[in-house]
Amino acid sequence: MAGGWAKDGAVSEQIEASINDELARMKARKAPVGESLKYCAECDEEIPERRRVALPGVKLCVDCAAERDGRPQDRGGFNRRGSKDSQLK
Ligand SMILES: [Zn+2]
Repeated sequence: MAGGWAKDGAVSEQIEASINDELARMKARKAPVGESLKYCAECDEEIPERRRVALPGVKLCVDCAAERDGRPQDRGGFNRRGSKDSQLK
């Protein structure tokens, strides 16, 4: 696109507006609830049904969610990630 930067700017403004619109709608709906995953998106561990029911749209197992939150759980010690990797193989 030669010399059309002003037009391009307008287009990206439009895109930005629709993204903001989308975000506003997501916020209006409060939680962006999607489908709960049966298997963790990080480690493919099965997510217990209780957890899926308690947290609609949950994507991670307890371990991965705790890791993501930076709050490692006090079970299994600090080698949890390592032992999980070996479980996968
Ligand atoms: Zn996981």
